[in-house]
Amino acid sequence: MIDEDRGADADARTRVAAAAVAPGQAAERHAPADTVAPAPGMHGPGMHGPAPIRPERGACRWQDVVPMAYKDEGSAPFRDVSRQVLFDDARMGCELRYFEVAPGGHSTLERHQHVHAVIILRGAGRCLVGDVVAPVAAHDLVHIPPMTWHQFRAAPDQPLGFLCMVDRVRDRPQLPGPDDLAALRARPEVAAFLDG
Ligand code: MN
Repeated sequence: MIDEDRGADADARTRVAAAAVAPGQAAERHAPADTVAPAPGMHGPGMHGPAPIRPERGACRWQDVVPMAYKDEGSAPFRDVSRQVLFDDARMGCELRYFEVAPGGHSTLERHQHVHAVIILRGAGRCLVGDVVAPVAAHDLVHIPPMTWHQFRAAPDQPLGFLCMVDRVRDRPQLPGPDDLAALRARPEVAAFLDG
């Protein structure tokens, strides 16, 4: 699901460029022009990047974190998903993102070489990992191995919000072709999941 932003290749190029910048400057590229100024005292002279403490502002919305589109519209099938990048520091090999699927929505059915480490934070729904379909709710852990089909679906009456840790530099997700879908749908519980 989860990903991918709008083209991992473009993101990877951005990251390579950012990595060439002095470490203290790299995080600056994430500050949109319209970001609210940090609270007084949160940034000292010469400090860059996010404030050390960014309080939650509303349910799973955080200070200085701008909700973004999950992916470009039309780039892959999904419905009602938002994305927030919580931690993305060039000195670390991973990113931590928060995704929220609105009630009745779903992430993209996809697979890729990179791994996802997911912690459900809010709401309830179901997920597909390989040929396993399972209900998920707050604080459940979901590990998605390489090249494993996966998708998250929110319950009809609840959102499904989750943290997802991922490699900063990662491969582009693959979408299923007709043969892949036929193989997945061979299991009745998977077919029922995909039909919503
Ligand atoms: Mn994914």
